[in-house]
Amino acid sequence: MRDLRITGLHLRLVRNRIAMIRSHGIGSVRETIPRVILRLDTDAGISGWGEGTPWEAFSGTAEAAFEAIDGYFRKHLIGADAFRLPDIMLACDHEVFGEEAAKAAVEMALLDLQGKALELPVHQLLGGKIRDRIPLSFSIADPDIEADVERARDLVKGGWGIFKVKTGFSSHTNDLKRLEMLREGLGDIDLRVDYNQGLEPWDALRTLRDIEEFKPTFIEQPVARQHVDCMADLTAALDTPVMADESVFNAADALRLVNLRAADLFSCKIMKSGGIRGVQKVLAIAEAAGIPCYGGTLWEGPIALTAATHMIAAERNFPLGCEFYMPSVVYSADEIECPFAISEGQVIVPDRPGLGLDIDEDRLDRCTVRSA
Ligand code: MG
Repeated sequence: MRDLRITGLHLRLVRNRIAMIRSHGIGSVRETIPRVILRLDTDAGISGWGEGTPWEAFSGTAEAAFEAIDGYFRKHLIGADAFRLPDIMLACDHEVFGEEAAKAAVEMALLDLQGKALELPVHQLLGGKIRDRIPLSFSIADPDIEADVERARDLVKGGWGIFKVKTGFSSHTNDLKRLEMLREGLGDIDLRVDYNQGLEPWDALRTLRDIEEFKPTFIEQPVARQHVDCMADLTAALDTPVMADESVFNAADALRLVNLRAADLFSCKIMKSGGIRGVQKVLAIAEAAGIPCYGGTLWEGPIALTAATHMIAAERNFPLGCEFYMPSVVYSADEIECPFAISEGQVIVPDRPGLGLDIDEDRLDRCTVRSA
């Protein structure tokens, strides 16, 4: 059995400009998105790519993720065999608590290396794909609702059929008005609602009863992550399915929510669960409990979203599509380090070895604010 020795680790903290303001309740994003980009080099001349993109208001800072890899994980990577992924990830887990985005970046780069060495796409390393395309959702999150309705109209013409409205960052009256405009302007679309923890438990039920009038497919994370008892009450009281996002980072969270019947659906993100294998543990619990899952995101670019695409391609329990729209719609087009293939409102699953990316390092360098 051959091994694949890691001989080099190159790390960048990049800041990518975005083309529009995104208002998401607990934290708005303006101007730039910080991401950590990892490249692992090997004695076989193959390089693997990883991305760690936390959101500071949700899961921590990119600066902390950079430091976790540079100062703490580096020693577990240099000289290690990339095929000993479980050992490496265990060492990282023991070394640093949390920092799930940094761990996701390491796991992603190792899987990219393995796939390239074996000449298999990552979805084949995961057992093989069961889908070639994944339906895409676009998030309605521009404070200028007219601009977002216009944007959504164009996307519908381009084949998109799923829209998720970010609610709870302005008044309830304004949220109702926005939903009315979307229903009137776009007709029979798959409309979803995400509060990003925006409601107070005492007032959530009557607020959401109004929202149900617009027949959303689901209501995501209506209250703060720790209010799982309230999530359980809402799940029982509402006709509309309730999705957990901020309340479910890992398998232990998933088990707790299942035991409390605190959600009908889960949003899964490799940046919450420390990588694909962490999400797979959440998925196993979800499937056993009859909970369908959705491919959520923070603000990831094409490297991380490609890894998540391989994961969803190989997993049955993702009937609700994904929201991997950032590289094509939100990021400034001239700053993206590699293409992210979408067509007619769907993500195309890549079939090339590893993650299947051609990285433009000059573009990365132009956006780099720190490297190691
Ligand atoms: Mg969410």
